[in-house]
Amino acid sequence: MRLKQSFLFYALSASLLLADVRTAEKSFYRRVGAIVERITPALIEIRRDIHAHPELAFQEKRTAGIVADYFQKLGLEVRTGIAGTGVLGILRGGKKGPVVGMRGDMDALPITEETDLPFRSKEKAMLNGREVGIMHACGHDIHTTLLLGVAHVLSELRSELSGTVLFVAQPAEEFGDGAAEMLKAGVFRDIRPEAMFAFHVEDTAKAGVIKYAAEYAGANVDGFTLVIESAGCHGSAPHECIDPIVVGAQIVTALQVMVTREINVHNDTVITVGSFHAGAAANVIPERAELKATIRSHGGDQRRLIKEKVERLVEHVCQAAGAPYKLNYTIGTPALRNDPRLVQRILPTIERVLGGNQYVQLEPPIMGGEDFSYFAREIPSVMLWLGVVPENVEKTSVHSPTFIADEKSIPIGIKVMSAVILDYLEAERQKR
Ligand SMILES: [Zn+2]
Ligand SMILES: [Zn+2]
Repeated sequence: MRLKQSFLFYALSASLLLADVRTAEKSFYRRVGAIVERITPALIEIRRDIHAHPELAFQEKRTAGIVADYFQKLGLEVRTGIAGTGVLGILRGGKKGPVVGMRGDMDALPITEETDLPFRSKEKAMLNGREVGIMHACGHDIHTTLLLGVAHVLSELRSELSGTVLFVAQPAEEFGDGAAEMLKAGVFRDIRPEAMFAFHVEDTAKAGVIKYAAEYAGANVDGFTLVIESAGCHGSAPHECIDPIVVGAQIVTALQVMVTREINVHNDTVITVGSFHAGAAANVIPERAELKATIRSHGGDQRRLIKEKVERLVEHVCQAAGAPYKLNYTIGTPALRNDPRLVQRILPTIERVLGGNQYVQLEPPIMGGEDFSYFAREIPSVMLWLGVVPENVEKTSVHSPTFIADEKSIPIGIKVMSAVILDYLEAERQKR
């Protein structure tokens, strides 16, 4: 009886304690919500300003200046000029704890904007000797704004923050080497995060939805340029020279056969020959054909295997035809691999902030490229996709001159990322 009574007592006090913790938790997240509501209008102004003044990869001087100023005003320790225009903001919390990072990329694309937004870009730049428009057609203006917003929220909660948060404003994602350059420049040389998070805008989901990949959120982006040479001859006498178009066509087809016959179906692989240039007249066999391909895969062994196979195939098809060739195979951005355990760990937080798991959607492995992979290769990381399709718009797509992002996604992204970081730090504090 005594035992039962005390058990009841402990059970009751434990549940009261839990209720207490939950109330404290609730009020904490209500505070996050209140801060986000308050700072959103000013952040939208900043986003529109960045959108109207986009800058190409490694030229993000103005944007980096806005970021550095904002971080400075928040009282963060600020380091600038990392890999040219990269910025690091360091927020040290009031309590001891681990170091985590958030990354936002800043660069825009050489695309002339065709939206009718009042803050559309009119900026131009010279690229490879010709004038091009510049546009934030990949939503990096939103990513930069989210970085500022999360830094703002967490800096207001600084005294309760158990650890340190690094805010990484990265140049040149579209070139595929901004992240690598920041690492090379020693962005984490004296302070290194144990986990990193990032957002990318998602053009297949409305604001209020977040998508994620359980593991691969991007692919190895490799490729080649192949030149097949010939002496050239009259189209009516093809036996007098090597026909580089026929040899090239054989290679295009053989590559597709290789993917389906030589690569395990479970090892995601795409080879696309997206460019094939040769000849000018119907009755002339040209002196050269030039093929360009992109090659996507996931694991590291896989990319090495594909390279060997492509080299072997090109060599032997050309040899069979007696065609001289030059193959330039390039190894680009590595595959972006979300840390599977970290993904599972943060999902409950995202579901709670968005108000249910129906707003958090699993995506199959992605074959696109994203240079956040350089960070993710060294540090357990997760990239989340933030729905940005406006309500009245059926379809919008990144890298298009008409791309439009719903600004309602900004406060949502800030709330989600702030909560992800806060929950991560809190869980680590309880473990230690
Ligand atoms: Zn892009
Ligand atoms: Zn992008």
